[in-house]
Amino acid sequence: MASLDLTSKLPGTKTSIFSKMSKMAQEHDALNLSQGFPNFETDSKLQELVTKAMENGHNQYPPDAGVVELREMISEKFRSLYGYTYNPNNEVTVTSGATEALFCTISAFVKKGDEVIVLKPAYDSYEPTIQLAGGKPIQIQLKGQDYKVDWQEVKSAITSRTRMIIINTPHNPTGTVLSKEDMLQLQQILEGTNIILLSDEVYQHLIFDQLEHNSAARFPKLAERAIICGSFGKTFHNTGWKTGYCVAPEFLMQEIRKIHELTVFSVNHPMQRAYAEYLKEPEHYLELPEFYQKKRDYFLNLIQGSRFTYIPSKGTYFQLLNFSGITSENDVNFAERLVREYKLAAIPVSVFNINQQDNSQLRFCFAKTDETLEKAAEILCNL
Ligand code: PMP
Ligand code: GLN
Repeated sequence: MASLDLTSKLPGTKTSIFSKMSKMAQEHDALNLSQGFPNFETDSKLQELVTKAMENGHNQYPPDAGVVELREMISEKFRSLYGYTYNPNNEVTVTSGATEALFCTISAFVKKGDEVIVLKPAYDSYEPTIQLAGGKPIQIQLKGQDYKVDWQEVKSAITSRTRMIIINTPHNPTGTVLSKEDMLQLQQILEGTNIILLSDEVYQHLIFDQLEHNSAARFPKLAERAIICGSFGKTFHNTGWKTGYCVAPEFLMQEIRKIHELTVFSVNHPMQRAYAEYLKEPEHYLELPEFYQKKRDYFLNLIQGSRFTYIPSKGTYFQLLNFSGITSENDVNFAERLVREYKLAAIPVSVFNINQQDNSQLRFCFAKTDETLEKAAEILCNL
């Protein structure tokens, strides 16, 4: 083997916890409620639309920014839901999942020495991407059992080097959502600064208890400096299709598109055609809060007799469960033991926290069939 002198660009970054726990689940033949994906099928109508798109010859490169009809549908969805109009020509881009949108956005704007405020616990792709761009994540811990943002602390963390702040609502992994009041405070803090807002809204349609999704697009003073990311994989139960998008004012989008062209150039063509058609019926996404709230409630009812404690998730398809009534071992050990000994996989929340702070919480994905939720609950109730 050649002996090359290599220095890792990301020395602190390990294999994602999602890959690790899903692999363990497979090895131990365990129920997998760890990585966030549904174990039921995407709508057969949508699959037929993909087949039709292939049969109709949509098998070569689509336009780099995405199929025009899909960009139009995304724009229309933002207009009708949040009252903000993005120009489909130059303010909407279809990406390879929200992951690529996040990567392109951070790469486009974060330079060496720039600071980016990240609210912890945070989705695991943000910080390595910031570091890869030469930036410095400034971590701020969400507070209390219900993971509230301390906006005063956010304000105090802003310096002349702050380039960006990343928010995520509904929030992975905690299942909390930002209120209108939160967004107004953020708007006030950012006013007059040079800070870009990256708003990760991949779970925008997974929101419960009649709560409204407070998209950054609802707040014009935020929208004018915001990039909003979305994921069709989350919305339409097909995470493996890896199709998402971002929307932003033109002066931001033109920079993002440069990176998008360099990373993937364009995104799979037949899926885009299918989504464009499928989005013509808004009920396909408007029915999601009810659909997932039923799953959340079913799961929580099933574990009533267990020794776990929790605050019901307000959004996403994740539920945090506190296990301090069961064991004092750390969450990573408990999660690993749960897979090995009890055949149930979950995500230890400490991996997303500052300094891996351990609050005795595991994250369970409830985007599962009733049968899977029943089996998982039986295991949890016996602990
Ligand atoms: N952001 C968050 C908060 C997520 O949970 C996910 C889901 N994996 C993503 C971004 C990435 O979405 P996608 O699968 O569309 O790349
Ligand atoms: N977003 C998904 C989760 O939080 C997983 C995505 C991934 O595997 N990278 O579980």
